[in-house]
Amino acid sequence: MKDLLDVHTHTLASGHAYSSLREMAMAAKAKGLKLLGIADHGPKLPDTFGEFYFCNFKVIPREADLGYGIDLVMGVELDIIDYAGSTDLRGDFLERMDYAIASLHDPCIKAGTCEQNTAALLGAMKNPKVKIIGHPDNPKYPVDFRALARAAREQHVLLELNNSSYVPGGSRQGSRELAGELMAAARAEGTMVILGSDAHIEFDVGRHDSALELVQQHGFPEELIINSSPEAFRKWIGHQD
Ligand SMILES: [Zn+2]
Ligand SMILES: [Zn+2]
Repeated sequence: MKDLLDVHTHTLASGHAYSSLREMAMAAKAKGLKLLGIADHGPKLPDTFGEFYFCNFKVIPREADLGYGIDLVMGVELDIIDYAGSTDLRGDFLERMDYAIASLHDPCIKAGTCEQNTAALLGAMKNPKVKIIGHPDNPKYPVDFRALARAAREQHVLLELNNSSYVPGGSRQGSRELAGELMAAARAEGTMVILGSDAHIEFDVGRHDSALELVQQHGFPEELIINSSPEAFRKWIGHQD
């Protein structure tokens, strides 16, 4: 499978990540990616940059030949902050993002019941900027995968297979075991998925090895994975309902 894009990466602006935008772009280019997305954490996660970080992305060249030699998209990884799916970036700034990932993170929302967690993700998907649900197979937040996959297809949202959740010693232990259920639901509903590195340092940009291993293991169909086509991803985030 061609794997040409990674749009779940973090820079120094996330507070607990260690490379600059330039370093991330150089690493992505060196690895042969065609599209890099930067999605730093929303302002509610402790020690990330404040909301004004997100107000000036207009100065960042998106085209390869005007900037770092690789096409860029600039987004945000929003924190979901309640079970209705509210998120943590003010609307006028969110509006300026090329795309948003929405995720459940410990410091911003405590785990609810399966119904509450599912409602939180479904609520976040209703925001038209949200194009990806990040690491939905975190066992800390049990979710109804079938309902999630159905809503994702209907709302034009990608479900993520998050590599950093699956690597040995990764931060969301137990995700490997749930990934099969997530893929089964996506397959049954015909829902598109995206592989994301969730890199917090340049060396991990484009790293999708553990996610690809699970894709193979579960025989998940390539046509439901968007990573082979930067054009398809661009079209996906430009989609308006
Ligand atoms: Zn996350
Ligand atoms: Zn992340």
